[in-house]
Amino acid sequence: MNEKIFQMINPKAFPTPFCPGCGHGILMGAILRAIADLEYDMKQMLFVSGIGCAAWIPSPHFKADTLHTLHGRAIAYATGAKLYNPKLKVVVISGDGDLSSIGGNHLIHAARRNMDMTVVCANNFIYGMTGGQMASTTPLGSLTTTTPKGNQEPPFDLCKLVEAAGATYVARYPVATPIPLIRTLKKAMAHQGFAFVEVLSPCPTQFGRRNAFQTAFAMLQALKKNCISVEKAKSLDPAELPGKITVGEFVNQEN
Ligand code: SF4
Repeated sequence: MNEKIFQMINPKAFPTPFCPGCGHGILMGAILRAIADLEYDMKQMLFVSGIGCAAWIPSPHFKADTLHTLHGRAIAYATGAKLYNPKLKVVVISGDGDLSSIGGNHLIHAARRNMDMTVVCANNFIYGMTGGQMASTTPLGSLTTTTPKGNQEPPFDLCKLVEAAGATYVARYPVATPIPLIRTLKKAMAHQGFAFVEVLSPCPTQFGRRNAFQTAFAMLQALKKNCISVEKAKSLDPAELPGKITVGEFVNQEN
């Protein structure tokens, strides 16, 4: 492991609590590499998370100040910390269930206020840690413990949601393409204002095994195959888009 990255992690936290094949380990590595490339001092940063598997990325793994808060309330805590100490670089790292279902109200209002913080939302399309329940991001027809006959409710497009609310940096990438993901995380953390990065991160344990994915690798491959760039999506007929996930940078407004 890169010595710089090794200095940023808490070795006592390993092995990680993530299941084999979980995308969150790749995301954790991408966030640390982005911080190392930016040469940010972890002592000037605060990492805030809620409840869920992704919330374990900063706490306990990062050798930095972390706030592991109540379910859905990470952005509210992050707002308070930022207002108290505006010099802090505040980064929220949590899951889709935490940030957009239980904490959806905080998400849209922080975007509306253009709060100066970076929000990294690990979207695994389900509530992973709490037992595989449907989330506001679960695709139509997907099987979860609370939708045994398939989800009938249309999911949120989180990037469109925060863009409409007023976020000034919005992007989405899967963990399957770590190079553009790291590049985007760097831009989001350097951005002044509300920056939102949705990271598609497979959950083989709760989502994959209920939805006919034989292996974690098969899930990662399917995710990569279904993602198309914003540029390519514009060139396609709308009839070709259902089932595809558009990825890339959607908003980048300087203040
Ligand atoms: S339950 Fe899913 S999201 Fe949670 S650690 Fe396991 S694979 Fe990852």
